[in-house]
Amino acid sequence: MSQPHAPVRQAVRQQAAANARPQFRSQRIAHFTESVIREMTRLAVLHGAVNLAQGFPDFPAPEAIKAAACQAISEEHNQYTITWGSKNFREAISGHYLRRHSVEFDAEREVTVVCGSTEAMIAALLATTNPEEEVIVFEPYYENYGPDTWLCGAHRRLVRLHPPDWTFDPDELRRAFNPRTKAIIITNPHNPAGKVFSREELTIIAGLCQEFDTLAITDEIYEHILYDGARHVPLITLPGMRDRTILVNSLSKTFSVTGWRVGWMLASPDLTDSIRKVHDFLTVNAAAPMQQAGVLALGLGEEFYHDLRTHYQQRRDLLLDVLARAGYRCFVPRGAYYIMADISGFGHADDMSFARHLLENVGVAAVPGSSFFEDPRDGAGLIRFCFCKKFETLQAAADRLARVG
Ligand code: GLN
Repeated sequence: MSQPHAPVRQAVRQQAAANARPQFRSQRIAHFTESVIREMTRLAVLHGAVNLAQGFPDFPAPEAIKAAACQAISEEHNQYTITWGSKNFREAISGHYLRRHSVEFDAEREVTVVCGSTEAMIAALLATTNPEEEVIVFEPYYENYGPDTWLCGAHRRLVRLHPPDWTFDPDELRRAFNPRTKAIIITNPHNPAGKVFSREELTIIAGLCQEFDTLAITDEIYEHILYDGARHVPLITLPGMRDRTILVNSLSKTFSVTGWRVGWMLASPDLTDSIRKVHDFLTVNAAAPMQQAGVLALGLGEEFYHDLRTHYQQRRDLLLDVLARAGYRCFVPRGAYYIMADISGFGHADDMSFARHLLENVGVAAVPGSSFFEDPRDGAGLIRFCFCKKFETLQAAADRLARVG
């Protein structure tokens, strides 16, 4: 049997150390494993690989936004803000939705600023679900939703998205709804699939939410990253959904500031009241100066969004071309900044062994498809590449991928 490579040996040792005293470990985290996405970033650094794994830009954030953050620090925005967010930032968020989606949110009672959409998702679930209740999640799914539901003691009910267009079967979705269903999570545009839910699909979901009296939690962090003329429809704007939807978004992806950890949640006053109770005790408030920079960011005009779409479309098309030449069958994303590729033709045992081969022999880090599925076998033929990277980074990946199959 071959020796596990060094980082794996190290991880095994760490795991053994962590298991040494199980009496000090809560049952809540019993099923937790390290985030595969974030682990791939660590391994990419270790192996000097081009990192097309974790979705964060390696190009600079917009100058004006960085300057606004520096200025906010100089101007002493350095203490706690109101726990649910600085007033002018909440007003900027509410103004943004009014302008772009013609939907009104009361900045005082319906907007909560949190530490990124990661906090938003867990806060939404902690505020609304009870142990043993069910939360419907489309599969493949962003890996955080697993731990998020475990922490709440809730059960996930998975509904499959079918490639190549990642459509769902409305009958399967209907069968997932039942009296124990508390909420459905919709990632739109979808990570990792790149699906943009159509108005017709959202209407089916909205109908079921109302029929079964359930909530919808929408993760819309890739709202502005769309291709080929795709349009984003927030579920909360559909008839009957305004009071049963929690909309989650953040500055991270739109403004290339994933490390700032500034997100927000929009919901009716009663839901917002529950959400704020959780948020207050989890994190108190999101970083004060970054919220001020967010005021400037959300005030940027259409040109910013047009440029964002244009440059991501170029990056997407470049990576699709590179992967096609290297023999991958890709599912073309219509939103977000990931490409799911079919690797079943390469003859590897599974996605993990393929990802390891890519990392160690090719020098490119990607995310094994199984990390987006409950049963690893369902993702064994898939791998996810991200393209939110400098053209030179994508070119470096292209050179490496062209050399080896
Ligand atoms: N959303 C990013 C991804 O899917 C990563 C987010 C994170 O690691 N917090 O790659």
